[in-house]
Amino acid sequence: MKYDHILIRYGELALKGKNRKDFENKLKENIQFAIREHRTCKVKRTYGRMFIELHDENPNDVLEKLKHIFGISSFSLAMKTENDVEAIKEGALQAFLQREGNNRTFKVSARRSYKPFPIRSQDLNQHVGAHILRNTENVTVDVHNPDVEVVVEVREQGTYITCGRIDGAGGLPVGTAGKVALMLSGGIDSPVAGYLAMKRGAEIEAVHFHSPPYTNERARKKVEDLTNILTKFGGSIRLHIVPFTELQKAIHAHIPSSYSMTIMRRMMLRITERIAQKQDAKAVVNGESLGQVASQTLESMHTINEVTNIPILRPLVTMDKQEVVEVSEQIGTYDISVLPYEDCCTIFLPSDSVTKPRRDKAVRFEEAFDFEPYINEAVQYVETLTIGNEQENKTEQKMNDLL
Ligand code: ATP
Ligand code: MG
Repeated sequence: MKYDHILIRYGELALKGKNRKDFENKLKENIQFAIREHRTCKVKRTYGRMFIELHDENPNDVLEKLKHIFGISSFSLAMKTENDVEAIKEGALQAFLQREGNNRTFKVSARRSYKPFPIRSQDLNQHVGAHILRNTENVTVDVHNPDVEVVVEVREQGTYITCGRIDGAGGLPVGTAGKVALMLSGGIDSPVAGYLAMKRGAEIEAVHFHSPPYTNERARKKVEDLTNILTKFGGSIRLHIVPFTELQKAIHAHIPSSYSMTIMRRMMLRITERIAQKQDAKAVVNGESLGQVASQTLESMHTINEVTNIPILRPLVTMDKQEVVEVSEQIGTYDISVLPYEDCCTIFLPSDSVTKPRRDKAVRFEEAFDFEPYINEAVQYVETLTIGNEQENKTEQKMNDLL
């Protein structure tokens, strides 16, 4: 006998009715996607739990992938037996013996969800406990603080035995909240913002502004790599690369330098909004944190925000840089984010940006030149890649029909 299943728990309390169905369907889909390389694994759903049948797959590889999936509260390796007391006793012993780590003390917690099973939980605890004690040495029962809790769940289709649980990523399954357009630079913040949006169930369409030849292929590759890391939390992601050079040049030529940063952000937002509409995304997500830099003052956000009325989510708004860095290290984007590259935003930008830009001034400056054709052109030549899906990982389309 060996561990042949993984038991997955998910526990958003507020799940009811249709929400619950969506939650479970998405979660199952996301699990299937995450473990797609393990071809013989099968994901099944029953009564508020999910199970993965492992067959011949290496459990540790599968466990590792589950850690990143939002919507899972915890999971455990499980051994399945028939609903027969002898089989259960032996299964529990094997589950205990095959568990890694220091296992000196244990307790048994039996649960009988399947009432026709003739032995009550209390009695099952004793049968199983006695069997483990008889077949081990230097092992004792400790009901208060055991090294191992042997959980025996008798269900209609069989009994599942687990020894310990691994924390899941929490949150909501990616896709259950709908779609957002993530403004993804090559920096530290925006990948973390994307990760946090995914944690609450948002599916991401990534948008990156690229200014060749001022920004090079390396900068672009960085953003592809960052997007690729985000896919491990929720499936493939489309990355929309916006050619931004001509628009930046126009801003440089026609806007007073103190306002060029503000106007550039407004242009980015207008373009992102159009992509969001096309992709049916209901909000924009960015990596802004209040007061972090000149363009992230309240006045600045107020003036930049004027150009759109779609919600802008700023998951990092209250975080200190150090907190953001910690998350980025944890999710694996930090090392890529700190690679040197030229950001399209910094190339043309002067050091005399105002920290308190005003809406009326921004509007007036924009009126002095017709930027619309440049915006249209940038949108027209967006290049879209699908990251994280090996079959589709090619340039999908020039989005000519976006307008
Ligand atoms: P980041 O670390 O995410 O680059 P930052 O602290 O450097 O953020 P800014 O450069 O002011 O801050 O950018 C603020 C936000 O604007 C970014 O978090 C990102 O969401 C968006 N943004 C900036 N540059 C780009 C870009 N080239 N493409 C797409 N979005 C961008
Ligand atoms: Mg940046």
